[in-house]
Amino acid sequence: MVGNTEKSIPERSMISMFRRNILRWYSTGRRTYPWRETTDPYRILIAEMMLQRTKADQVVNVYDEFFTTFNSPDAVIKCSDGRIESMLKPLGLRWRAKNFKKASQALLHTFGGRVPDTREELKTLPGVGDYVAGMVLSTAFCKCEWAVDSNVVRVFRRYFGIPTSREGRRDAHVTEMARIYSSSRNPGRANLAIVDFTGIVCLPRKPLCNSCGLRRRCNYFMNLDDKESKGKAVSTKSSINTVRGCIDYD
Ligand code: SF4
Repeated sequence: MVGNTEKSIPERSMISMFRRNILRWYSTGRRTYPWRETTDPYRILIAEMMLQRTKADQVVNVYDEFFTTFNSPDAVIKCSDGRIESMLKPLGLRWRAKNFKKASQALLHTFGGRVPDTREELKTLPGVGDYVAGMVLSTAFCKCEWAVDSNVVRVFRRYFGIPTSREGRRDAHVTEMARIYSSSRNPGRANLAIVDFTGIVCLPRKPLCNSCGLRRRCNYFMNLDDKESKGKAVSTKSSINTVRGCIDYD
């Protein structure tokens, strides 16, 4: 650990090693979704807005229907609120429908129909905060931009053993770690790798530590008292993805 905010920030080399190992897991453990098969910033932005507080598997059908019906911000703003609301209904959170329309209006009227490529500009769009902005910038524009949500906070806290506040995604040292983490050749891939790793392996309640390739250097795993408690505190359930990843990484 170094510095002051710093005092809770691991060395860059440790964060780089963590990223390397997450990416190694991701090369076989990744999930495939339609919004990951495109580099179109508009499609990626819409997908990230749909994914807020929603499981990715729920989003797939809605995403496909959305882009069958609307292929541009112009098509969205010409559509009635009711039509958009009913399309987004399976995702819950009806307020999102209004954001889709307002964001599409802003894209057309303020940004000339293009998705802006800076965090500041993206955050002027309704429904877009730091996380969505970071994911769009890193995956659509290949910019070294961070994205922190509660999953990122959890895996950082467990693996590096850092303290975090109740609102950990707002902690300056967590943001700084995410900034270092995403400063790589392929920042989008690195950010997506954490999304999948925390959704498949480092789960909120029962992380699959016994089949996790990162366990040898993970603070959480190392601090479990003994083998018996390790068995109790973590799930021994393995999926095909985690079994594939069940080798000790560096
Ligand atoms: S060992 Fe467990 S807590 Fe540590 S990163 Fe892996 S799944 Fe998460």
